[in-house]
Amino acid sequence: MHFGLTQEQEMIVDTVRSFVENEIYPHEAAVERTGEVPNEIAQEIKQKTMDLGFYACNFPESVGCAGLSHVDFALVERELGRGSMALNHFFGRPQNILMACKDDQIERYLMPAVRGEKMDALAMTEPDAGSDVRGMKCYAVQDGADWVINGSKHFISGAEHADFFIVFVATGVDETPRGPKKRITTFLVDRGTPGFEVRDGYNSVSHKGYKNCILDFDDCRLPKEQVLGEVDGGFAVMNEWLYATRITVATMCVGRARRCFDYALNYAAERKQFGQQIGKFQGVSFQIADMITEIDAADWLTLAAAWRLDNDLPANREIASAKVYASEMLARVTDATLQIYGGMGLMDDFPIERFWRDARVERIWDGTSEIQRHIISRDLLRPLGA
Ligand SMILES: Cc1cc2nc3c(=O)[nH]c(=O)nc-3n(C[C@H](O)[C@H](O)[C@H](O)COP(=O)(O)OP(=O)(O)OC[C@H]3O[C@@H](n4cnc5c(N)ncnc54)[C@H](O)[C@@H]3O)c2cc1C
Repeated sequence: MHFGLTQEQEMIVDTVRSFVENEIYPHEAAVERTGEVPNEIAQEIKQKTMDLGFYACNFPESVGCAGLSHVDFALVERELGRGSMALNHFFGRPQNILMACKDDQIERYLMPAVRGEKMDALAMTEPDAGSDVRGMKCYAVQDGADWVINGSKHFISGAEHADFFIVFVATGVDETPRGPKKRITTFLVDRGTPGFEVRDGYNSVSHKGYKNCILDFDDCRLPKEQVLGEVDGGFAVMNEWLYATRITVATMCVGRARRCFDYALNYAAERKQFGQQIGKFQGVSFQIADMITEIDAADWLTLAAAWRLDNDLPANREIASAKVYASEMLARVTDATLQIYGGMGLMDDFPIERFWRDARVERIWDGTSEIQRHIISRDLLRPLGA
């Protein structure tokens, strides 16, 4: 067993870390203040990512990309996690589900996405269907050779910048012993398609500038060539490609926690009360000890889950464990850091209150903590018939 990074992996970490420090950190305060990423900064980040050869590095060499392994990509995401989500969105990592593109979808969607010519967004969640994906109401019916979509999606990240959308829609229903379950089909929908509108979403306390939108479909007509994968095969496409994206949430949490931890450590070493550094009080130093222990644990749990994917081993439970542990660890680490900073922790003179607010969404998106625990426990109990 080897726990170290290879020379190439060290290089990946160093390159992405200095990119985040030099290209992302300097713009963070302005994005936080305005809630916007100016287009020229977005394009600059995109271009510099391409120049480094990291654009779409989660895609294989067969489509002209870096073809990073799951572990290597987790290292990239871990370093990106240190920086603002709104800004590092332009360090493009298109949805790997686009590898399901076939025929002319490859030239219309997959290749422009990995070349940075088009941006995508993924739309599954609806106002009445979050965790319960199969409860979705947005539906499509066949009309001749076309599909006609009606309904809406919300909380869709990155939609304001997207040229096209990967949308999960109900196309039928199966009667099962546990009640009716929707059959789902995945569609590729271009911005500007008649009957399809992208609207502003809600204001979130987490990740200012990383917006979410509402998508409305009103008799939106699509030719059958817009189906990604098979008709009624949306769950197959989801299972093949989307589980791995939960690792990215976990690794980003680890990166952000490490950045936050450095603030806690330095403040504990510098801030003096009662004539000595607060780090000399066990009440503070033990928090530091707990923080680093949990960060390291989350880091290894996440890399081990990525390693399982690289080795074609079952990984759903391990990915769920990494996601739930890393996101909850980040909540504890940001909260403890804020506590160590005392009152100044709440003030926006320091990024601590931002780390604390940003941490909150990680336990919700990409499957809530409860849903991750459900995945973990079903994996263990189902084989025992429970
Ligand atoms: C900022 C933001 C960006 C997002 N971006 C996207 C995006 O780009 N694309 C997209 O499709 N979605 C996106 N989402 C949606 C996100 O994945 C959902 O919010 C998440 O899956 C939870 O759904 P919900 O919010 O409807 O909560 P609900 O599913 O309504 O859950 C409410 C509560 O009930 C609990 N609960 C539900 N079912 C169970 C159960 N079986 N057992 C135990 N507890 C349960 C949940 O854990 C939660 O605590 C985003 C969300 C946010 C907040």
